[in-house]
Amino acid sequence: MTHILGLYIHIPFCKSKCHYCDFVSFPKQGRFINRYFKCLEIEARRISPTISLFPFTLHSLPFTLYIGGGTPSLLSPAQLQKLFAIIEKNFQPIRNFRESAFEANPESLSIEKIRILKRSGITRISLGLQSANNVLLKKLGRIASYECFLKTFGNLRDAGFSNINLDIMSGLPGQDLGDFNKTLETAVNLDPEHISIYALEIHEGTQFFRQKIKENDILAVKMYESAAKKLKAAGYLHYEISNFAKPGRQSLHNLNYWNCGEYFGLGCSASSHLNGERRTNTKNLKIYLESLSETGAPALEYSEKLTNAQKKTEKIILGLRKTEGIELNRNIFIEFKEQIKKLNSEGLIEVSGLRIRLKRRYFYLSNRILQEFV
Ligand code: SF4
Repeated sequence: MTHILGLYIHIPFCKSKCHYCDFVSFPKQGRFINRYFKCLEIEARRISPTISLFPFTLHSLPFTLYIGGGTPSLLSPAQLQKLFAIIEKNFQPIRNFRESAFEANPESLSIEKIRILKRSGITRISLGLQSANNVLLKKLGRIASYECFLKTFGNLRDAGFSNINLDIMSGLPGQDLGDFNKTLETAVNLDPEHISIYALEIHEGTQFFRQKIKENDILAVKMYESAAKKLKAAGYLHYEISNFAKPGRQSLHNLNYWNCGEYFGLGCSASSHLNGERRTNTKNLKIYLESLSETGAPALEYSEKLTNAQKKTEKIILGLRKTEGIELNRNIFIEFKEQIKKLNSEGLIEVSGLRIRLKRRYFYLSNRILQEFV
């Protein structure tokens, strides 16, 4: 397993709130962006000496960057350049990262911004499609139409981006299997390097929750199975529960999460895993801004030094998200032997030597299966 260090930067601003969204994102708060950048810079200055303790990072480059949100593409061209300057001043040139990913929504990713991303050395774009059906997009509260998505995708290809992920949702209210398959076929015809498929989850506090919309698990499973089959036939590797990639195009940054690797996050709600400690910054934008301006450090939502038992559990739970599963060392295997035996006898996992993995056809039950190890 390659040892990677990840840098995540959260841009929590959005134009409006999608009806299913419970990410840490704030609509119509663009007036705080410049102040937010000042705080990111303080955090970056604070963390960069720690990076120098990783002697391999700057030279051998197993260092990934992920700018996520929110909607990072909402930033203006000048703000994008400012963000990249903060990264380059405190860490390393963007083009030196092994992988540098940027999340975008079609409506806000102008040609000018695409050119800035390309010039700056961003290598991977994750674009929110969700559905190719405009009626469903409207229902989800998405701003971009399918036509707008197509235009942005074409602009990205014209600018030379050759590593694009498309996010697609399943189990949407009013969506049937035929409609989902149509979105999938449309996506596959565009030949993106990576596709992520997420089943709709209803979270408290969202517009969908207030509208009493319910998840449709049975339909979502059918869609998931159909997607796995179609994407395999189209040459995609199903390498993680929700993720499919052309060979060699797996997300290195996300693989590092599932491999229990180290990473640090900057920004409101961003998480870090460094030196055996997990930490998450406050999810409250106002508190984030105030704590950094007043104390030079972000207020924390959570922090915990992991015990050995927690580390082992995490290793299994995160590792089992990958289709290849996880090779355990003998001691861990023996420690979890009862759970492994039970899941194996129920036919939910495969065991081969010290390697365990979820059976593909039970991926949709992953939450319940992984619970056995907690
Ligand atoms: S664009 Fe993304 S982060 Fe923003 S509201 Fe919609 S789903 Fe949430």
